[in-house]
Amino acid sequence: MTNYYNNNTILFLNGEFVKAAEAKMDLYSQSLHYGYSVFEGIRSYKTTNGETKIFKAVEHYERLKNSAAAMNMPYHWSTEELINATYDVLAKNNLQDAYIRPVVYAPANMKFDVNEQSFIVIEAWAMQPFLGDQLLRIMTSSFERPNPKGFKIHAKAAGHYVNSILASQEAKAAGYDEALLTDMNGFAAEGPGANLFYEKDGQLFTPALGNILPGITRATVLELCKELSIEVEEKFFSIEELKTADAAFFCGTAAEVIGFESLDEYKFPMKWNDSVSRKIQVAYKELVAAPSNSPRGGEPQPHKANLVEEV
Ligand code: PMP
Repeated sequence: MTNYYNNNTILFLNGEFVKAAEAKMDLYSQSLHYGYSVFEGIRSYKTTNGETKIFKAVEHYERLKNSAAAMNMPYHWSTEELINATYDVLAKNNLQDAYIRPVVYAPANMKFDVNEQSFIVIEAWAMQPFLGDQLLRIMTSSFERPNPKGFKIHAKAAGHYVNSILASQEAKAAGYDEALLTDMNGFAAEGPGANLFYEKDGQLFTPALGNILPGITRATVLELCKELSIEVEEKFFSIEELKTADAAFFCGTAAEVIGFESLDEYKFPMKWNDSVSRKIQVAYKELVAAPSNSPRGGEPQPHKANLVEEV
């Protein structure tokens, strides 16, 4: 089990840095009772020149803002102040390679109406970069992704993740590593927390937007394809089509790029190390670890005005 926090861990809670073990939230919150909150999953990396870099920080905090707007949740933070707060959380906890979890949540409210305020917490814990030598045994889930006519599935809302938990638990109980879910039309959609790509004859394919979370890693993979002149197509495709692929992988902030060994009874025939997918995996790993001022690692980093070292 991941050790998320200990007695010394500091988190950011509504403008203050407080000990995780002493932080409080309202047990009457609409978020706890109904899964009504929005969140992000972000990673920071120790780059090759030793600095701490939050990968795609602006994209993640902009998505958090958009998720809150989609859920009618008030949101009064700027992306810049939240990125600065996140760098402070990392520094106060001596973290470089880390997973960062901001959550925007609701006050006490048992009704279904809109709130006048929202709250925010930013937590972080250590996470080492993935080595990339593991391949996943995937099961086609009996669960479909939430229907976009029932949920705003482009938003990263907590309640959607009950679906992810059910699918992942089902796959693991059946002896697989992870689930692959279909959309409401039966097309291959995504994993419980990652987007899907498959490879055929040197070309990549990924489910079109509409019924999936528009992943930031998915967008990064599309950019890498352009850079590396790898052809890629966004389209809807079936599980049967996926089972004719040479190789396939999940991608996401936590998963990074991780290849499939098999899907149900189908074993992907190409050796992972010979695949174009592997090239993407290596390029992604290089990108996340590239210094922020290098042409490839170019990430707009916020101006750090007041990094407080002690609490
Ligand atoms: N799909 C789902 C359902 C997810 O939870 C995630 C993780 N946020 C992803 C895809 C991948 O998104 P990202 O690359 O932005 O982490």
